[in-house]
Amino acid sequence: MHEMSIALAVIDQVESAVRPAGATAVRSVRLEIGELAGVVPDALAFSFQLACEGTVLAGAELLTEPVPARARCGSCDRTWPTGLPPRLSCPGCGGVGVELLSGRELRIADVSWHDDAPVPTPTHEER
Ligand SMILES: [Zn+2]
Repeated sequence: MHEMSIALAVIDQVESAVRPAGATAVRSVRLEIGELAGVVPDALAFSFQLACEGTVLAGAELLTEPVPARARCGSCDRTWPTGLPPRLSCPGCGGVGVELLSGRELRIADVSWHDDAPVPTPTHEER
């Protein structure tokens, strides 16, 4: 199941981010999900609950934040919300040289754990 592999990847990333910080229980994870990422939030939440068992994320709440999809025309520079199914030709000039600006995101936006101390998003920019 597609959502299950995403849930596992998310849990993996969160675990490696909170372990060094000494977290023993994660309270919630906030995910940004693009409109075109092909993820069903309910199915993902279900997979997440199952996959959390036995990890520091057990019982954590998964919060999902939809990100609307937008596209830009390469010919006339117009931007528009693509909607679903996505409109990938320019509503202004009919051009098909279209760049997708957003909508494919699948990103951990925030993680919070038992004592409310924010854990940085899993990047390695600091230090
Ligand atoms: Zn155009």
